[in-house]
Amino acid sequence: MHEKKDKFDKKGAGGMDEIAKTLFAPIYPVIAQNIIDRFGITEGTCIDIGSGPASLAIAIAERSSLSVIALDSSGDMHEAASKNIANAGLSGRIRLLQGDVHDIPLADDTADLIVSRGSMFFWDDIHTAFREIYRILKPGGKTCIGGGFGNKELRDAISAEMIRRNPDWKEFNRKNISPENVERFRTMLNEIGVPSFEILYGDKGFWIVISKTAGGAL
Ligand code: SAM
Repeated sequence: MHEKKDKFDKKGAGGMDEIAKTLFAPIYPVIAQNIIDRFGITEGTCIDIGSGPASLAIAIAERSSLSVIALDSSGDMHEAASKNIANAGLSGRIRLLQGDVHDIPLADDTADLIVSRGSMFFWDDIHTAFREIYRILKPGGKTCIGGGFGNKELRDAISAEMIRRNPDWKEFNRKNISPENVERFRTMLNEIGVPSFEILYGDKGFWIVISKTAGGAL
């Protein structure tokens, strides 16, 4: 398993948990609502890949009847997530699953909706990861996988504060959302043969929307 011990160990998980509850806190409800409004998928199974402290998983569960699986390779992230889910009173709706996006421990055609925020930029092999994502997506299902801060106002305010805290973050974020990176993901999706996808790129971030059609195995 490609466990991210370096960045997402206890210290990294604690830092992510802290920022998700403070500076980033307003983005998750906005992103969750954007996803629900766009796709109208409110029932069935949602998987949040690289769920971290589970802030997006919680915001989706609060706005829908979806059962959510919070998949992350880091046990330390799951420790934080477990407390956050219990505090939100959602332990019955959100299941933690430790696993790697490159080898997802779920059956084919499991998910009605697959979401992921701020995780794909850390994946070692995006071809393998997206083949796995496509495999576990149900025919008729959608993905919304990428990164962003919900809207322009939140993006501008949070980016300014992140750069103030850590000047290196500017370049990290620029690379993630650069047109070259969008092109890298577009090329990969064509190479693995995903028949129907679009890439949303703008003030709301950079999001890969895959629509799986019936009989759509790669
Ligand atoms: N999605 C959360 C959010 O927006 O608050 C957390 C984002 S955090 C920057 C990235 C997360 O992706 C971490 O929790 C990390 O453990 C997870 N991750 C990184 N590589 C992964 C992989 N190969 N498989 C599963 N999870 C992974």
